[in-house]
Amino acid sequence: DQLTSQQAIDLENKYGAHNYHPLPVVLNRGEGVYVWDVEGKKYYDFLSAYSAVNQGHCHPKIVNAMVQQAQTLTLTSRAFHNDVLGKYEKFACEFFGFDKLLPMNTGAEAVETALKLCRKWAYEVKGIDENNAEIIVCENNFHGRTTTIISFSNDPIARKNFGPYTKGFIKIEYDNLTALEEALKNNPNVAGFLVEPIQGEAGVYVPSDDYLVKAKALCEAHNVLFIADEVQTGIARTGRLLATCGNCSCENKNCDNTPDVKPDVLILGKAISGGVYPVSAVLANDAVMQVIKPGNHGSTFGGNPVAAAVAMAALEVVQDENLAENAFTLGELFRKELNKYIETSGIVKLVRGKGLLNAIVINDDEGSNKAWDICLALKENGLLAKPTHGNIIRFAPPLVMTEEQLLDCVSIIIKTLKSFED
Ligand code: PMP
Repeated sequence: DQLTSQQAIDLENKYGAHNYHPLPVVLNRGEGVYVWDVEGKKYYDFLSAYSAVNQGHCHPKIVNAMVQQAQTLTLTSRAFHNDVLGKYEKFACEFFGFDKLLPMNTGAEAVETALKLCRKWAYEVKGIDENNAEIIVCENNFHGRTTTIISFSNDPIARKNFGPYTKGFIKIEYDNLTALEEALKNNPNVAGFLVEPIQGEAGVYVPSDDYLVKAKALCEAHNVLFIADEVQTGIARTGRLLATCGNCSCENKNCDNTPDVKPDVLILGKAISGGVYPVSAVLANDAVMQVIKPGNHGSTFGGNPVAAAVAMAALEVVQDENLAENAFTLGELFRKELNKYIETSGIVKLVRGKGLLNAIVINDDEGSNKAWDICLALKENGLLAKPTHGNIIRFAPPLVMTEEQLLDCVSIIIKTLKSFED
């Protein structure tokens, strides 16, 4: 039987752990840029499950790949080989320009994997004394919520009362090359620098254009691994195949002026499967990945045939439908239209972002409820978005959007914001 929204919410509240604060909307269908609630109301999805549904909801090519594989073979674990994983690994390695891929399931798991990889590389290749490796991370980072990852989180809610914390992390200011240089100079045991090319959960914070390329050069000079967490920024979201772009197969002629950077270790998740199935991956070249030996790391589901088939189809969609280019073009248009409105608006301070990963900052303090109230009003007007902070709303629609749909969304957003002006 079809539940009403309220019934579904009541069930979750009664039987589910209270680890989220969802917008009060219950969805039961999605197609492309749209989702529908159980009462049949249609919305634009402007979150894309935190940048996972880049290829649009229920993309037929990805869903078909999943169904076909699910009817043939779903899970072997890595105790046996399967005939899909190798093909996917080859495809993804060539797509992103790396020698090797290590398959995992979720973003946080892939981050954990990259941290382990970095430490082992430091002991076996760089020659740091065992158990002494340090990894530099950034203030206001978000990399997941496992015990190790929260050890270097700034978020008190994710962190408090979950200690003792994992050692071996040095935290520096984001977008600050001097801080990175100092940390590298002062700590001979640094093995890696873990960084988000744009800090998504921090409120879509975009660093200076030369930050990543210069940070990579500093890492290279100190023989330290540059580890890019592109779980949120990757897979065409920011108007390029990767926000770091690097030596990938990106042929996006609209690519912006940010210089390319090739990470030593690349972390992908979310949209690598188009949000159809949990898939994540760590990519690196042989010089780094060779330290991983049988038994060092693994996962029952990582690299399973369904995951491999889905991810391959999802990456093909990104390429076939020119999603990076579309994200670039629509992103420029989105910020241009919102900036026109902001000139005369008392309520929005600024819009920032790249491609279709954007945020608006509201003229209010961080502790306010304004962003939440605006999101509730956006929902009433047929558009779903979520605040990252009391005064910041992230806008990240599926990348399969058309210009006409985007302009429709802009008018919904502006109409809603206007209703909050006194
Ligand atoms: N890294 C980044 C940059 C993320 O944005 C996220 C999720 N928001 C993660 C890691 C964690 O991914 P997951 O939720 O799949 O574990």
